[in-house]
Amino acid sequence: MIKVHGYAAQQAKDALAPYSFERREPLDNDVVVDIKYCGVCHTDIHQVGDEWGGSKFPMVPGHEITGIVSQVGPKVTRYKVGDRVGVGCFVNSCRKCEPCRKNLEQYCMEGMSTTYNGVERDGTPTQGGYSNRIVVDENYVLRIPDNLPLDKSAPLLCAGITLYSPLMHWKAGHGKKVAIIGLGGIGHMGVKIAHALGAEVTVLSHSLKKQEDGKKLGADKFYATSDPATFEKLKGYFDLIINTVSAEIDWNQYLELLALDGAMVVVGIPEKQIPVGSFSLVAGRRSIAGSLIGGIKETQEMLDFCAKNNVTSEIELVPIQKINEAYKRILASDVRYRFVIDLKSLEQK
Ligand code: NAP
Ligand code: ZN
Ligand code: ZN
Repeated sequence: MIKVHGYAAQQAKDALAPYSFERREPLDNDVVVDIKYCGVCHTDIHQVGDEWGGSKFPMVPGHEITGIVSQVGPKVTRYKVGDRVGVGCFVNSCRKCEPCRKNLEQYCMEGMSTTYNGVERDGTPTQGGYSNRIVVDENYVLRIPDNLPLDKSAPLLCAGITLYSPLMHWKAGHGKKVAIIGLGGIGHMGVKIAHALGAEVTVLSHSLKKQEDGKKLGADKFYATSDPATFEKLKGYFDLIINTVSAEIDWNQYLELLALDGAMVVVGIPEKQIPVGSFSLVAGRRSIAGSLIGGIKETQEMLDFCAKNNVTSEIELVPIQKINEAYKRILASDVRYRFVIDLKSLEQK
């Protein structure tokens, strides 16, 4: 077995603390990745807090992983030692069901093996990227293009693909008016990617505090949702609204901002059910939909798109010793715009 050091929560809502554990020796198709950076997603906080139920402990969170291949199994063909790679939100899936066959492993009928707080196909619990090494089947590993720095590209593995996938699916591009609700970790990637795709991008943020940043990130317009005039002014305006917020909002008020045939896509995951009035939907033939990360093929496509368009995340690099503080700041919306853990810090005593 391979010895691994990281940070874990021992039970729900615990502070994260140093934790040593073991991972399997590489099987035929496995690569061992020496983790250099890992982004901090709000999902990590939801899961450590067991907000969605069913969390498994001890839990080593982290699913925005970048690093360097340090070992490969005998049948690995795609990667070699020294390659720059990434691991996102899942590390395996059944590979047989229709979604898997369509490269949409995130919707695997048997359930994907999430990178942490999940189980591998053989039932072994998975542990994530707040650690110094991970062992993953090569088919679930991404290649980080040469011009993307490993620290700023770590958040692409979840935040980037979570917004890229719905933006592509709902055809954001020239002539499309797109709104992103919430300028946080995933939201700021949505602004950058939608802008690079050529869409007109509006940020709907709860205040105007981030307005200047929003414009720099590529937003054409920026409105505060705390101001009721925003909802009057933008009625019937957007083709696509992507909601990244996990706090409760008045869904109907936002649906009214959609143009004919517009879609509102849920990507933020609140604890509570979503209340939606039927009139907000039938008037304007509007849709409400959801989207979950992206498959391996699309994630690679997104990384290549980001490399071509110079899109990376705005990050604040933190040592792992500051992870609990980082969680508090995320909860206070005090992050510009993604914390990324520098795993070198694990070597410090
Ligand atoms: P984050 O960095 O904390 O950003 C969330 C943003 O929501 C904040 O920056 C803030 O933006 C807004 N917000 C926070 N509290 C609010 C409140 N009380 N009222 C209104 N707006 C508020 O989180 P994240 O990492 O981007 O993740 C966001 C959500 O997406 C989480 O629920 C996460 O689990 C989920 N997620 C889903 C997927 C998927 O595949 N569907 C993937 C990754 C994450 P403003 O300051 O601009 O208002
Ligand atoms: Zn995530
Ligand atoms: Zn499957």
